[in-house]
Amino acid sequence: MSIESGRLTAAKLTENFADLHPPLSDHEARVAADRCYFCHDAPCVTACPTDIDIPMFIRQIATGQPGAAGVTILEQNILGGMCARVCPTETLCEEACVREVAEGKPVIIGQLQRYATDIVMEEASHPFERAPGTGKTVGIVGAGPAGLAAAHRLAMHGHDVTLYDARPKGGGLNEYGIAAYKTVDDFAAAEVDWLLGIGGITLELGVRVGDSVSLAALQDTHDAVVLAMGLGGVNGLDCPGTDAAHVQDAVGFIEDVRQRAWDQIPVGRNVVVIGGGMTAIDAAVQARHLGAESVTIAYRRGRERMGASRYEQDLAASQGVTIRTGLQPVEVGTDTITLGYTRETAEGLALTGETLTLPADHVLKAIGQTLEALPGLDRAGAKIAVDSAGRTSLPGVWAAGDCAAGGDDLTVTAVAEGRDAAMSIHDTLMG
Ligand code: SF4
Repeated sequence: MSIESGRLTAAKLTENFADLHPPLSDHEARVAADRCYFCHDAPCVTACPTDIDIPMFIRQIATGQPGAAGVTILEQNILGGMCARVCPTETLCEEACVREVAEGKPVIIGQLQRYATDIVMEEASHPFERAPGTGKTVGIVGAGPAGLAAAHRLAMHGHDVTLYDARPKGGGLNEYGIAAYKTVDDFAAAEVDWLLGIGGITLELGVRVGDSVSLAALQDTHDAVVLAMGLGGVNGLDCPGTDAAHVQDAVGFIEDVRQRAWDQIPVGRNVVVIGGGMTAIDAAVQARHLGAESVTIAYRRGRERMGASRYEQDLAASQGVTIRTGLQPVEVGTDTITLGYTRETAEGLALTGETLTLPADHVLKAIGQTLEALPGLDRAGAKIAVDSAGRTSLPGVWAAGDCAAGGDDLTVTAVAEGRDAAMSIHDTLMG
């Protein structure tokens, strides 16, 4: 077994973790914007969970007003900078773009969004102003995408917001759970600082609700509460050998890559990642970037069922990651993993009895996350039940983002849900 740190030189690590999409120059942005047809009833807008007026902001870039374009984006999606970096645009706005449909080459909406939002965020002043104070306070649990979006919208409407987060830094998934090469230069932290520039938001870190403070106490303290803590638990692997030291949660591995020096992060020579979502891809690609010789993603169903987009799958393949489907682990050994072939049956997925053994001195589990216990709330499946406005079964308590039922587990969806919960709270508090 050989999990080691420092497999690559510092220079090679820096090269491997460079920005996935370097920013556009002014000229490149104007040329890209000129490809937009500025469609009426634009399908790209319909495909955006935050309803950004895409033809409007692209027209603003095309006419030399990139700052105005950035504000157009941020009015709808205050985390438009991060979403420009991590959104699977190829399955959202860019897939719907008429130029993709007609020519197979969409307007590069995501990169234009990054260009415009970067310009606004470099300005000295925050682009939004607070309304006069309402005297109302809102407590938000979780300073990730949903919590930050809700906090900003509520602060803008004059409410005082306290954001509670269990971790030492704000940002949630943006800070801890996304591949380093998608958000370079500490962008997640910079975005949180910038967002707090609106004023009226207090960030309380190291506070775990249900531990250091109870939900009931927050209900007593605040006029409304938003639960936006994401999914803190991780699913386990149900096969022998998974409690071995070389079996690790992929979310923990990704967090290490984001929070520690790259030459200090141990990685195996032969890495096998179990799972088929974005976390599996981010873990696999980064294992390669840290110097693993072979990295295989093993997913139990077919490629079409993978949570990761085709673009992400292709990205992983381009970095030397092998994706194998129809396989699930049956035993983890000290330096091998035995995978069983699966087939779909009327009763669900079943093992065929055939197996494949791969070298594996490092196994990363990326098989989904779960909601940590929060008693007293109705659930819908494994998540918190909410109505269309984000209200939970408890009076005065809303939920948004990954911990709330409905929607997909995307940053952009969490932002939309946080923003919409904030508007529901504002309407409720102001009668
Ligand atoms: Fe522009 Fe494409 Fe959207 Fe039409 S669908 S407005 S061409 S980005």
